[in-house]
Amino acid sequence: MAPSFEEPATIAAKDHLNGTKTTFTSIEDPTYPTRSLHFLQPCNKNNTTETSSPKLAKVKLNVIIVGGGLGGLACAIALARRGHNVEVFEQAAELGEVSTAYIIECIKLTTEIFQVGAGIQIPSNSSRLLNSWGLEPFLKPVVVEPTGMSFRRWDSGKLIGHTKLVPDFRKNFNGPYYVIHRAHFHDALYKRALQLGVRVRIASRVEKYDSEAPSIQLASGEVIKSDLIIAADGE
Ligand SMILES: Cc1cc2nc3c(=O)[nH]c(=O)nc-3n(C[C@H](O)[C@H](O)[C@H](O)COP(=O)(O)OP(=O)(O)OC[C@H]3O[C@@H](n4cnc5c(N)ncnc54)[C@H](O)[C@@H]3O)c2cc1C
Repeated sequence: MAPSFEEPATIAAKDHLNGTKTTFTSIEDPTYPTRSLHFLQPCNKNNTTETSSPKLAKVKLNVIIVGGGLGGLACAIALARRGHNVEVFEQAAELGEVSTAYIIECIKLTTEIFQVGAGIQIPSNSSRLLNSWGLEPFLKPVVVEPTGMSFRRWDSGKLIGHTKLVPDFRKNFNGPYYVIHRAHFHDALYKRALQLGVRVRIASRVEKYDSEAPSIQLASGEVIKSDLIIAADGE
């Protein structure tokens, strides 16, 4: 069964060991709340989720990023915000364009997100950073904000702890706790990168680097020079 974000007060679960029915208590009233992140509270008081304008770099660089995955696009956004001239080279023939139909389908599947294995957790420290990069308008329509996290016995489903996420995480750590489908996250990063003027070249496999020039050579034979080359090819 897919985990539910809005769990009922009492849930009957089948005991996997002896086949009998077990009833366990409400997640609203756990016996042992985890309090696992309370120690972070003082560190996060002054952080903000608002989009901040960073100082522009004193020296504007031409930057090549090899790989338009999550890492490459996040790096592109961070550098473009500082005023650098960024170009991403991605070997795939298509990138980031998630159709509306696909998004709707994925929203329907959000409760199964953990089952399909592509649910990426974005805790408060990350959401704060992403929102300060101006990602919020792209993330908001496609994220899920779970109300809490339950910890259960593997063999009986018995509730042994609960971390309340809403409203606690926004209140204590100045940032929401999101879960997002990997494709949506990629799409959001891609759209924000384009908005910042990052150029993304698809179907552009990088075959060689020259660290002295520095330059890259594409599979087509084209050589492109820059001031800095960042390898974000996932390897
Ligand atoms: C199906 C799937 C589900 C996942 N689910 C989760 C999850 O639930 N939770 C979680 O935390 N993580 C998950 N991950 C892992 C997470 O997506 C990765 O940790 C993350 O994508 C790594 O980012 P990256 O930019 O380093 O690499 P990637 O995202 O792999 O990006 C690398 C990019 O570089 C390109 N590239 C490679 N070589 C070249 C070249 N020579 N020239 C040009 N381009 C090149 C590739 O085509 C690719 O687009 C999942 C990964 C996959 C594939």
